[in-house]
This record gives sequence, C-alpha cells and structure tokens, in this order.
Amino acid sequence: MSNPDSISRLDPTAPPTRRVRIQSETAPRTGAAASEAQGHRFAAPEIVFDAKNVSVFYGSKEALNGVSLGVRRGEITALIGPSGCGKTTFLRSLNRMNDSVPSFRIEGQILYHGHDIYGGNVDQVEVRRRIGMVFQKPNPFPKSIYDNIAWAPRNLGLKKDLDDRVEKALRGAALWNEVKDRLKDSALGLSGGQQQRLCIARAIAIEPDVLLLDEPASALDPIATGAIEDLMHSLKGRFTIVIVTHNMQQAARVADRTAFFSLESSSDARSVGTLIELDDTETIFSHPRDPRTRDYVTGRFG
Ligand code: ADP
Ligand code: MG
Repeated sequence: MSNPDSISRLDPTAPPTRRVRIQSETAPRTGAAASEAQGHRFAAPEIVFDAKNVSVFYGSKEALNGVSLGVRRGEITALIGPSGCGKTTFLRSLNRMNDSVPSFRIEGQILYHGHDIYGGNVDQVEVRRRIGMVFQKPNPFPKSIYDNIAWAPRNLGLKKDLDDRVEKALRGAALWNEVKDRLKDSALGLSGGQQQRLCIARAIAIEPDVLLLDEPASALDPIATGAIEDLMHSLKGRFTIVIVTHNMQQAARVADRTAFFSLESSSDARSVGTLIELDDTETIFSHPRDPRTRDYVTGRFG
C-alpha cells in the first residue's frame, strides 16, 4: 500500500529537478493520530480530505457554495442530493479533475492529509495516482482486459510482477473468475457491469489511497448494481471511498457517512449547490437535523 502522506511536490526552495516528499507518516504522531495509534477507543478518526469553505464556479455561475466537510480514512462517504446540486463538481474537485474545464474556478481550501491539493507546489500526477476515479459510464479503453489493467502501472514504470498486479486488481474488483480465461480479449466485449468492475480494477491496480466513484452503478441493471455494492463493502477499509449516488437506498446500504447537498437560492436569486449536513448514514436517514434533509430522504422533495 502506498504511503498516502507523501504527495510528492516541487519544493519552491529546491533546485528545479529535486522533488521533496512530505513524510508525515514517519514523523512522530501527535494528538488524535497518536491516540488512535495507541488504540484508544474514542480517538478522533483520521481525516483524509478536509474541505474548508469550498465554492466552485463555472464562469460566472456558482455551482457550489461554502462547502466544509471531512472525509474519514477507510470509510465510505456518500454524497446525495437532487440533480444539479454539485455532487459531481465536488467529487471532481477532490482530485483536480475539473482543472481541464476552462471556466472552472475554486475558492476555499481542500486539504488532503493536511496538504492543500490546489497548492501551487502539488504534483498533479501524484494527486491522480493517489486519488483514483471511476465515472458514471464505464469507459474501458479499446484494448484487451489485461492491457486495461496494466496500462496505468506500465505508465508509472511499475512493470515488475505485472501479471500478479493485474490478477490482484481483478480479484480485488471481484472480476477475476469471470475473465481469467480471456484476459487477451477486448474489454469492450464485457457486459456493462463487468466493464464497470474493470474500471474499478483499473483504478485500484496502482493501489491508490482514495477511490472517487461518480454514480458507478447508475447505468447498470439491479444484479450488476448489487455486484458493485458488494464490491464497495469488500474494498472498504482498504481504501477511503467517496461515492456519489442518486440512489438513496444505495447510500443507506453502502455508506458509513452520508452528505446531503441541496440547491438553495443565492443572494442574486440564482440556485447554488450547498452542503446541508453530513452525518452517520443512519442518522441522515432516520433523524436528520435539518428539515430539508428529512424532506429529501422521505421522498417529499427531489
Ligand atoms: P450533480 O452531479 O449534483 O448533478 P453537477 O456537479 O454535475 O451536479 O452540476 C452542478 C452545476 O454545475 C449544474 O448547474 C451544472 O449545470 C453546472 N456544471 C457542471 N459541470 C459544468 C461545466 N463543465 N461547465 C459549466 N457548468 C457546469
Ligand atoms: Mg452528477
């Protein structure tokens, strides 16, 4: 497993070719991390992402306003809410996937293991390596099953024991038994559900720290959806997972904590996505604090 605390970065004070590794994992642990390491039962969970007052704009349109939330290590955090409330925008902001959108602008801060992910000295390749993403629509490369999984490891120079790595990723994504006899066949010949598990295998092949999943089952039938949910459970703990879903039952089934986003009127009367509350999934669905959450989860709205 990679060291999540070592986002390589260019140190502005170092010669241009030198990379500095931030290695807080080897540093003495203090505070909450120390008590967790000592096995205290009520230690504060380790925070992987700490979003602080994040607002996102596409040109002059504000898509998200003032979102502050923490994502805990090893947990599954679900993002729910009506269409257009900024769930995908927020998810894609976590690994700078929105950077390619020319009109995108972000305010506030997103800390990843304490490091500002939008800090000028963060290595974006390293960010993508540690924070993998799976999209709504399965998007296998038009290559063999094997080459889909081997693609990212090869790109990163992880060529040693590649066969083992491919097998491990496919096993991890609960796909190995279905494809082990046809690894050289095109990935495009797989069913939709298999393709989505292939995309998850592709993401975990480089052993990221975090998996971001944007409605990974929305294009799938109920059986394939069930397979993806089972897979979420088996990946839990090994990875920190953030999943967007419009399916509330799915959030209730897979997530440890759930964040409810809503569309609210902004000062200029335009609607803007806002985080209403984040809590244990059980609390969000059974006794949320905010009436807007209650209306949504009881189906009175959205
Ligand atoms: P959700 O995933 O909750 O449905 P999105 O994050 O996709 O919401 O969208 C939030 C808002 O941002 C919507 O109004 C959407 O139209 C807008 N938006 C999303 N992506 C872009 C983009 N690339 N350019 C302009 N506006 C966008
Ligand atoms: Mg979306």
